[in-house]
Amino acid sequence: MKNYKIDTLCVQAGYEPSSGESRIPPIAQSTTFFYPKTKEMADLFDLKSEGYFYSRLANPTVAAFEGKVAALEGGVCAIGCASGMSATSLAIFTVAGAGDNIVSSSAIYGGTYNLFSTTLPKLGIECRFFNPDAPADEIEKLIDGKTRMIFTETVANPAIVVLDFDKIADIAKKHGVLFAVDNTLATPVLCRPKEWGAHLVIHSSSKYLDGHAAALGGVIVDLGVFDFKDNPRYASFNEPDESYHGLVYADLPVAFGTKCRAQMMRDFGAIMSPQNGFISYIGSDTLALRMERHSQNAAKVAAYLKKHPKIEWINHPSLPDNKYYALAKKYMPDGQGGMMSFGIKGDVNKCAAFMEALKLITQETHVADVRSCVLHPASTTHRQLSDEDLKNAGVPKNLVRLSVGIENADDIIADLKQALEKV
Ligand code: PLP
Repeated sequence: MKNYKIDTLCVQAGYEPSSGESRIPPIAQSTTFFYPKTKEMADLFDLKSEGYFYSRLANPTVAAFEGKVAALEGGVCAIGCASGMSATSLAIFTVAGAGDNIVSSSAIYGGTYNLFSTTLPKLGIECRFFNPDAPADEIEKLIDGKTRMIFTETVANPAIVVLDFDKIADIAKKHGVLFAVDNTLATPVLCRPKEWGAHLVIHSSSKYLDGHAAALGGVIVDLGVFDFKDNPRYASFNEPDESYHGLVYADLPVAFGTKCRAQMMRDFGAIMSPQNGFISYIGSDTLALRMERHSQNAAKVAAYLKKHPKIEWINHPSLPDNKYYALAKKYMPDGQGGMMSFGIKGDVNKCAAFMEALKLITQETHVADVRSCVLHPASTTHRQLSDEDLKNAGVPKNLVRLSVGIENADDIIADLKQALEKV
């Protein structure tokens, strides 16, 4: 499937039926798999052969979705997880333990921010945040011998900061640190982090990949470009894993992906369910079409809001005066996605009045599905954050996040217009 274009891969990658098999992946709703010979089973446990034995480690339906996402991102292996949060957690645990640190952009999804600022430190993993707009030398100062990952988002949720890939890729290369990118809001249709120096991609597939707000999920994609061999930062890849018959992951063709599945998925068990693998697989068939429409609609909506007298500021990288316009043109030239944020003039109560007046666009703790929706992060997803943390995360109190769907753009704009009239 490697030579096909991205829209073809969305439809075709990940599953090829043999004669007489179902045309789309069947749901293998089974915890376990049958083998008549003990040796066959033993070889699977030893990773000497490929196959399925227990759905906590791998499942054929989930594998179809994993195969598709790996193909879309140009990766060598993908791991379907129960949610985007579990994907991020497992990716970190694969490389970091107590006493280690990760270095992360501060402009990230609120749930990920909480994981990094509160939960990881309780497990002994420190997170050092950087402002994504900071110069490289300032970010570099955070890296020391214990740094195991640099974490970023291609398009930050909800701050809509577009990642400067070149800046981070140079730092990661110079220090031999794994560069991980949450590509949820760009999707591989609009940006492929591998082409810009990333080593690992993480997705909340609950968003655009599924696209219908139907299935929670996450995916970790090993892009197969990071060399763990003899890198002193990654002792756990270079020493035998006694819990896995002395396997040395750095010696394997797929080092990260194998360690993540064989060790972390085995121990934490946060695997995607077969049902959600199926829904996500068929949902992602239309990803390329949807991303085109989301991007076109959002550009129209952003141009409308930009001129509206009740809008204080608007942030969508399609707007030529946007701070991230040049970065978006470089890294996401075919469309800048459906996510935007804007500030309503006046106090915070105006945000609630506006959102309650909307008729077509609904208030939801979700983004990036076919239906347009809004959220006020400061009183919902980001409500645990202090004023200082909100500032660092690029989330002013009057920020309204709008996820533009694939409805007709005129209808979306008409709904915004009538709601703003009521503010
Ligand atoms: N990453 C991004 C950019 C997100 O927007 C989200 C959720 O909104 C997550 C990760 C977490 O994903 P999930 O809700 O699937 O756990």
